[in-house]
Amino acid sequence: MSETNFIHTIIEKDLENHKYETGEIITRFPPEPNGYLHIGHAKSICLNFTTAAKYGGSCNLRYDDTNPVKEDMEYINSIEEDVRWLGFKWNERLWASDYFDTMYEGAVELIKKGKAYVCQLTPEEIKEYRGTLTEPGKESPYRNRPIEENLKLFEEMKEGKYQDGEMVLRAKIDMSSPNINMRDPIIYRIAHATHHNTGDKWCIYPMYDFAHPIEDAIEGITHSICTLEFEDHRPLYDWVLREIGFWEKPPQQIEFARLNLTNTVMSKRFLKKLVDDGIVDGWDDPRMPTIAGIRRRGYTPEAIRKFCEEIGVSKSNSMVDIAQLEHFVRDDLKERVESRNVIFNPIKVIVTNYPEGQSEVCQVENNPQVPEMGTRELTFSRELWIDGEDFMEVPAKKYFRLFPPQEDKAGNEVRFKGAYFLTCQAVVKNEDGTIKEIHCTYDPETKSGLGFEGRKVKGTIHFVDANNCVPIKIRKFGYLMVPSAEDPDKMVGNTDSLTEEICYAEPSLKEAKAGERFQFFRHGYFNAEPKLFNEDNLVFNEIVGLKSSWK
Ligand code: ATP
Ligand code: MG
Repeated sequence: MSETNFIHTIIEKDLENHKYETGEIITRFPPEPNGYLHIGHAKSICLNFTTAAKYGGSCNLRYDDTNPVKEDMEYINSIEEDVRWLGFKWNERLWASDYFDTMYEGAVELIKKGKAYVCQLTPEEIKEYRGTLTEPGKESPYRNRPIEENLKLFEEMKEGKYQDGEMVLRAKIDMSSPNINMRDPIIYRIAHATHHNTGDKWCIYPMYDFAHPIEDAIEGITHSICTLEFEDHRPLYDWVLREIGFWEKPPQQIEFARLNLTNTVMSKRFLKKLVDDGIVDGWDDPRMPTIAGIRRRGYTPEAIRKFCEEIGVSKSNSMVDIAQLEHFVRDDLKERVESRNVIFNPIKVIVTNYPEGQSEVCQVENNPQVPEMGTRELTFSRELWIDGEDFMEVPAKKYFRLFPPQEDKAGNEVRFKGAYFLTCQAVVKNEDGTIKEIHCTYDPETKSGLGFEGRKVKGTIHFVDANNCVPIKIRKFGYLMVPSAEDPDKMVGNTDSLTEEICYAEPSLKEAKAGERFQFFRHGYFNAEPKLFNEDNLVFNEIVGLKSSWK
């Protein structure tokens, strides 16, 4: 059960007052099918579905398709996949365009009541007549057209007699209202465009502010939850329902602050441009803040739901640090994925006192925090690879990993996780001064799991066996948007948002399944790239890094 918030308080009061006959709470998630959903939509989805569930009600998925722009089956399929993936089941799947007849009747009703008129001002004139925040608007010369004439013109608009933009239907409310939305808003416009659902039946389409309350009312929505930008539109929402008056128990609109995340632009239009311009590799590019993108990246639905729950619902806009989202992803994966040894920036280790041609099996835990996840086998032999950051030729202060003998101290001894204690004896260089390999000795008494208690070491590092490790490709992601170098308050595209490197992995990663998630020991969480991974292309995405204990 979700925590309580101000929306729940409103609902509980309504239930107490028996505001709705059946007492059933009905919400809806109303996407416009003109792009893929993003993490901001996830917030709205979680809120609508969990709110309905909390009160034993239901939530509809309703396509807000009143705009006959290019609406694509691809978008519709992706929206449904995303809602399901987040773990929610809609009660009904509905289309706003199925209500065009009712909306038309509603508009005719308004005209008959003298509450709407056909206006032939140009779009520029309408804007000019609307006035400003400080100045009242001016009445349109068409405002007092006789009802009969309005009815005739509106019907002719519907029949296709006029061109796009030639005239509109406006609600007759109040040109001097302090709320600009109430200054005779446009409620129908002409658009000779084929609609994906209604085809060429209509060449007039309702505006959002007129259509949305009617959609909600038809479906018996009790609480219509939307983002704060619509707060100033609420008087119009209520006006439409009151004036049309088909409904005894009209829905109520409740606004909450939209989710804003640092380093993230959440606008379908902007994200579509990234796709169209080829800046990213599709809507599901793992760098995208789309639900498809973060799914491919390896985020879990549980982590996203928890994040949406924990950041809460507020009445004032704010910015959430993307690190918080990453925290919930890390936290969710911590106890559910197995660990694997993967070596970044590899350095070769020769165990000089270990016999050539010999190798032995070591047991390592799959997840030290969850012993039930068992162990797996790795091999140890004379030639190993260790991580570049596990060796320093001249150790920094408090560096407990491998370093060779120094003037004032011996070479360091560390535990090779699952195997032995090894001591660094020497570093061997190439002619150009780079490191060729390091030489270590191992102590046969210290094998892991055999209870050696002679002495302790401070550092534990991981390794892979040079005889059987496999090269894998790692893809790491930066944010798509970063502060500009000139002006840190301005966000610009990050030209360095994708880096790839080859690492050496324990052989079991060959058998990973596309999409499977792991912790790469001491590096972070990764998944086998859902679309690209196969046995000839061992490519992994970084889901989220670990917080490093030593930098
Ligand atoms: P965009 O501006 O990204 O295109 P939109 O609001 O136009 O988004 P819709 O398809 O109309 O997209 O939105 C469906 C629902 O999701 C709406 O109820 C909207 O309020 C909500 N929503 C959109 N963005 C956010 C966000 N950042 N945080 C919370 N809810 C959001
Ligand atoms: Mg929209």
